[in-house]
Amino acid sequence: MLHSNPDYTPTCAWPEDCTVQWGHGIIPAVPFFEAFPTGTFIRGEGATIAEAEQKAFEKYQRDRACDHLWGRHRPNHSTYTNGAAFCRKCGGFRGSMFREVVILGHWRTPLSRWESDWLAELEGPRDPDFEVHMERKYPGHAESCRKSRRLLRIRKNLFGVEEARIFP
Ligand SMILES: [Zn+2]
Repeated sequence: MLHSNPDYTPTCAWPEDCTVQWGHGIIPAVPFFEAFPTGTFIRGEGATIAEAEQKAFEKYQRDRACDHLWGRHRPNHSTYTNGAAFCRKCGGFRGSMFREVVILGHWRTPLSRWESDWLAELEGPRDPDFEVHMERKYPGHAESCRKSRRLLRIRKNLFGVEEARIFP
């Protein structure tokens, strides 16, 4: 269990390699507790951080005990196309369970303004310390940046950047 915030000591039996964090929401200031077991994300809220941790841990145990039935649809929300999955029985979440749903030809378009800015950032100078930090926090981050940079560069070369919209 990895944590750095000294104002509370978790009491539940989270796995050794699980990152946890807690605090108070901004608006409303609801105490929350979040855990990041491999492949998933669990959040609990309560009157106190201890109660939020209990809620999160109950969710975690429900997830562990479930014979999952995965789907792309999140109950009471929309259907996710980015590969994320939700269990129809326990509501558990996995970040990448399916292949992403793509629309054929959707890359054959000019970059939007923000994509163009993002490309400039990806091709700009990198801070090696920050990159190491990001890779440690989000394994695969560097590879995903490389892929995005390559794709955005190809799209920019072939299709350019969308004209700034002028609103009359
Ligand atoms: Zn389940």
